[in-house]
Amino acid sequence: MRGESHARRDGEVAIFAIGDGGDGGGQHWVSFVETRIHPRATCIGDRHESKFSSSHLRQSLKMNEAAQQIIQWGKEHSADFPWRHPKNPYESAVAEILLIRTPPHQILPVYRQFLDEYPTVAKLHEASERQILRMIESLGLRWRVERLKSMAEYIIAERGGEFPRTLEGLQDVPGVGFYAASAIMLFAYRKRAFLVDANSVRFIERYYCRTFSGEARRNKQLIAAMDELTPDNPATAIAFAEGFLDFMRDVCRPVNPLCKECCLSDGCRHCHMSPEGT
Ligand code: SF4
Repeated sequence: MRGESHARRDGEVAIFAIGDGGDGGGQHWVSFVETRIHPRATCIGDRHESKFSSSHLRQSLKMNEAAQQIIQWGKEHSADFPWRHPKNPYESAVAEILLIRTPPHQILPVYRQFLDEYPTVAKLHEASERQILRMIESLGLRWRVERLKSMAEYIIAERGGEFPRTLEGLQDVPGVGFYAASAIMLFAYRKRAFLVDANSVRFIERYYCRTFSGEARRNKQLIAAMDELTPDNPATAIAFAEGFLDFMRDVCRPVNPLCKECCLSDGCRHCHMSPEGT
């Protein structure tokens, strides 16, 4: 689907440039863009334009530009956390469980200590819950112990000690949801994947002035938008994910985003619509 979408995107640019939107393939792609992004020209609640317009194409290109700007920002500012280059999927899975609702700098020493004590999933499998708790209790959220134990149990008992190698397979591992599976695909297997979490919701809502109803992180349009925003090349997708995580933590933060010093402010609707461009 990705390869196909690129061919169509290129075709659409060409068709659009010469003012011919009536091509069958072009129409198909137009509807594909609309389905995946639902861009809007103004902030109008949950309504979206049903007819193709030049704003759709501009939005698609704008996503690409936003991704490049985030990658550039990441090159200059991103942190080099060990879980961004783990030795194997086990190290990545442990990191994702520890990172739940906990700032990265807080888990860093615990993560290192944890992997010194339990360098393999087999070692973790041998540990008691009490031993694991002692190791991570300073982070709070004690239910992480159960997740770590269930994960180790499944990998040893059901998978012969090997982690699945696909996004779908990883989501069968207890304690590993879509987000953690995507992170493992990206950082451990170095494959293209995209992260969907509260950061993604906040970014798409602000940058495109979108609102998502219900449980936003499961929203198909949001997932499609993050897919669209993520570069196709695996190495670039990894660079984008790293930059995005840090950018959303340090610049487009939940409260008081730093819009005045943000490299995306020119194209960001939140910035333009906010009376003070906060
Ligand atoms: S301009 Fe503000 S709201 Fe927009 S992406 Fe930057 S920090 Fe976030």
